[in-house]
Amino acid sequence: MRCTLKSLVVTFMAVAFCTFLAARPVVAAESKEGDFEYLYGNHYCPACNYSDLVDPQFHADISNKKAGAFARIYVCSAGCVDKIKKDIAKYYTEIYRTDKKTGKEKPALDLKNKTCPMSGEAIDGKTSIEYNGMIVHFCCADCTKSFVKDPEPGMRKLLPEAKEYKFPKKPEGQGNAHEGHTDHDGK
Ligand SMILES: [Zn+2]
Ligand SMILES: [Zn+2]
Repeated sequence: MRCTLKSLVVTFMAVAFCTFLAARPVVAAESKEGDFEYLYGNHYCPACNYSDLVDPQFHADISNKKAGAFARIYVCSAGCVDKIKKDIAKYYTEIYRTDKKTGKEKPALDLKNKTCPMSGEAIDGKTSIEYNGMIVHFCCADCTKSFVKDPEPGMRKLLPEAKEYKFPKKPEGQGNAHEGHTDHDGK
C-alpha cells in the first residue's frame, strides 16, 4: 500500500514537472511581444491616445509613390485600423517625423545602408524609399516592392540591435488601465 502510494506520488510529480516544462513555451508564444523582440514602428496605439500597446498583427499602411515614402502604423486592434486610416498622414508626421524632444518636425533619418536588405547585394545608389521616417537604400526597384509587403524582416537586418525600437515589456500588474502612459513621447 505504502509502495503504491509512493509510486503514485512519484508519477504525479513526474507528470507535473513534464507539464510545467511543456507549458512554458506556450505561455511565451502567447505574449504579444514574443515574436517581436524589436518592432520597427510605433509601440503604442495612436487610435487609443497612445495608452495601449500595439498588437503587431494590426497595422495601417500608407504608400506615397510620388514622394517615395511608405509607412506602417501599428495599432492595438482591428477596430483601430479604420480609425487611423482616416487621418494617416497626420499620424505619420506625429509618430515618425517629429522630434521627441523639441516637438518639431524632423527630416527622415538616412540609414546609409550599403547592402540591400532584401537581396544582400550592393545598393544601386539611386533606389531608396522613406520607411517610417528612415531612408532605406536598395539594389533595385523590385526589392522595394517586396520590402514594403513585409518590412519587419528587412528592418531587422538593417538595424539588428536598434535598442530604441526594442518592443517594451508590458508593465506587470497594470492590466488594461488607461491611466498612465498619457505622457507618451509622441507629442
Ligand atoms: Zn487602439
Ligand atoms: Zn535588392
